[in-house]
Amino acid sequence: MKRKLSAESHEVMKQLIARHSTVCIFLLAPFAIASLLQEKWWLGAWTSFIVSIFAVNLWAIIYQDRYFPKMVRFVLAPAIIIFSGVCLMTLEMMGVFWLYPIIVSFYFLLKRQDAWIANILVMCFAIPFVSIHFDAAYAIRIVTSLVMISIFSAIFTQLISAQEARLKALIVTDHLTGLYNRSLLNERLSEAIQQYNRSRAPMTLITMDLDHFKTINDQYGHIAGDRVLKKVSEVLIRRSREVDTIFRTGGEEFLVVLYNTDLEQGIRAAESYLRLIAATQCIPQKTVTMSAGVATLKEDESAEQWMLRSDNSLYKAKDAGRNCVIADCDA
Ligand code: GH3
Ligand code: MG
Ligand code: MG
Repeated sequence: MKRKLSAESHEVMKQLIARHSTVCIFLLAPFAIASLLQEKWWLGAWTSFIVSIFAVNLWAIIYQDRYFPKMVRFVLAPAIIIFSGVCLMTLEMMGVFWLYPIIVSFYFLLKRQDAWIANILVMCFAIPFVSIHFDAAYAIRIVTSLVMISIFSAIFTQLISAQEARLKALIVTDHLTGLYNRSLLNERLSEAIQQYNRSRAPMTLITMDLDHFKTINDQYGHIAGDRVLKKVSEVLIRRSREVDTIFRTGGEEFLVVLYNTDLEQGIRAAESYLRLIAATQCIPQKTVTMSAGVATLKEDESAEQWMLRSDNSLYKAKDAGRNCVIADCDA
C-alpha cells in the first residue's frame, strides 16, 4: 500500500515540477537576461542557474518521463534559498517582492517538512535585511506577511494532501464491509511475490466464498444479506494478523493474503475462519457457512497463476459439499 501511494505521489510531484518548471522558465528567463545585460552578475548568474535546473528537469520529464528529486531537493532548493539573499542584496526593497513566490514555491517543490526548513532559512536572510532597511513598523509588517504566506501555503497543501489521502482510501475500500476491494489486489499480490523472491518467506492465499448466499438473500432479504457480509468481514478482521490483507473481491467472495505463512499454517487459518463464521450468529436460527481454497506461492509463479490455483481449490471445496477447506498441495 505504502509503495503504491509513494509511486502515485511521485507521479503527482512529477506533474507539479513540470508545471512549476514551465512557469519559472518563461517568467524568470527574461529577468536573468535583463540582469546580465545590466551587469548585475550575481543576480543574473543565480537566476540563470535556477532556470537551467528547471530546464533540465522539464527536459527529463518530457523526454524521459522522469525528474530528478535529489537535484530538486539538494541543488534547486538551496539555490532558491541563496537566490532570495541575492535578490535582497541586489534589488533591496524590490527584492522583498520575490520572497513571496519563493516561499510558496517551496511547498510545491519539497515535502512539507523540508518546505518549512527552507522557509526558515529564507527568513534568516529576510529578517536582518528588513530590520536594517526599514523602520520597525514596516519591518514587522513585512515579516508578518511573509510568515502568513508561509502558514497559509502550509495549511493549503496539508488540506490537499488530507483530501488526496481520503480519496485514495475510498478508492481501495469496499463501502459495505470496510475491507479492501479488488483495486489493490494485484499490487498486494505483486508485493507478496517480490517479498518471497527476496526472502523466500512463504506466502499463502485463501480464497473464500459464502455457501448458498443467494438462498440467504432470497429467504431473509438483501439487507439481512448485507448484514451477513459485514459480520463475516468483522470475523475475518478479528481473526487476522496486522500483516494479513483481507479483500472483498466480489459479492460474497473474500480473499486473504497471508505473509510468512506456509501451506499448513494457511490451512489452519482458513479452518479457523470457517469455524468462527459458522459459530457466529449472522442471522438468528441460521448457520452461515463458507468454503475456502488455499494455495501457497510457488517459485516463478505469477499472481494470476497463484490466484487461479487458490480459486480452483475453492471450486473443489464447493464440489466437495461446501463448508470445508481444500488446499492446492501441488508444490
Ligand atoms: P455457492 O454456495 O455455490 O457459492 O452459492 P451462492 O448462492 O453463494 O452463489 P451465487 O453466485 O449463486 O450467488 C451469490 C449471490 O450473492 C447472488 C447475489 O445476489 C448476492 N450478492 C452479491 N453481492 C451482494 C451484496 O453486496 N449484498 C447482498 N445482500 N447480496 C449480494
Ligand atoms: Mg457463494
Ligand atoms: Mg460467489
